[in-house]
Order: sequence, then C-alpha cells, then structure tokens
Amino acid sequence: MLTGIFTPADCAACKLCCNFRKCSAWETPSLEDELIYLLQEEAVPLYKRADGSTTFYLHFCTDSEIETANCPMLNPDAGCTLPRELRPFECRIWPLRLMKRGSSLVLGLYKNCPALKGDTFERLKQYATGDLLQELLHYAQRHPKSVRELDDAYTIIWQDDSKF
Ligand code: SF4
Ligand code: SF4
Repeated sequence: MLTGIFTPADCAACKLCCNFRKCSAWETPSLEDELIYLLQEEAVPLYKRADGSTTFYLHFCTDSEIETANCPMLNPDAGCTLPRELRPFECRIWPLRLMKRGSSLVLGLYKNCPALKGDTFERLKQYATGDLLQELLHYAQRHPKSVRELDDAYTIIWQDDSKF
C-alpha cells in the first residue's frame, strides 16, 4: 500500500490487500526475479501462473470461490513481514493497478479500499496521475504480465488509448 497517502493504522485495521478470495486470486502480485530468488531461499510457497509469472501460493481448504486465504508473507497481527524495500511493486502501489481494457492501458483504483474516504481519493488520484505515473508505466513496460484485464472492482482514473 502507498505509504504517505495511507496511514499504517488505516492498513493495519484492514489488511484487505493481503487477504484474497479464491475467485480473486488473480490479484496476487507478480513477483520480480530478485524477490523470487530470495523467497525460494526462505522456502516461501510460490505458484507459477499459466502466463509464466510467479506469485505467492495461497492455501485454500475448500472449493468455495469465496473462501479467503492470507498471503504467506502476512502476519495477521503485525502486517506484512517483508521489509518495504523487498515488497513486490504491486503491493507497494496498492490500491492502484495498471490494467488493460481492449486496446487501452488504464490506471485503476480499487473501489473497496476503506481508506479512500474524504479527500484521500482526490489526493491519491493527483499523485498517481502526476509524480507516480512515469514509474508505473516504466514498471508495466518491464513487467507486462503485471498488467491484467480491467475488473469491475476498479475505478479508472487515467487512460491511454495508444498503448496496445
Ligand atoms: S485496502 Fe486500503 S486500507 Fe486496506 S490494506 Fe489496502 S490500502 Fe490499506
Ligand atoms: S507481500 Fe506483503 S503487502 Fe504484498 S500481499 Fe503479501 S503480505 Fe501483503
């Protein structure tokens, strides 16, 4: 999650970013190669998607699509156990996500983040479409598998129709 926009208290009380329903397991972050190597050394359970990207393995106990599972790096009491500099890029920018819709590249903001209240939505939108945008685009260029299909759970805050 974006520090500087959200307080640690906002996220400590929520942890929605780190707990996934089976039907939304596609939202788990794609991991950068350096991080994969470190996590393998620590025997963290990982999972290779059909598209070739690697993510965290989520342990589900039933076939229910709404069952939830924590990211293996989550300590439910203390939050993410990875130091901030080692967290996947997608985790560091959450609740933002670059996505594709048809031939357009869009920047989505997760609608259900409970901290997006008051002026936080507008502040985050300004930051994401200003100072942060080039960094997001650069990451998406280097890691195209992190750009997934637009989902209803995201509000579009920026769009580029020339990207695909
Ligand atoms: S959904 Fe929002 S409040 Fe909850 S952990 Fe993520 S960024 Fe923080
Ligand atoms: S790596 Fe950390 S921030 Fe990312 S989903 Fe897992 S526990 Fe959450």
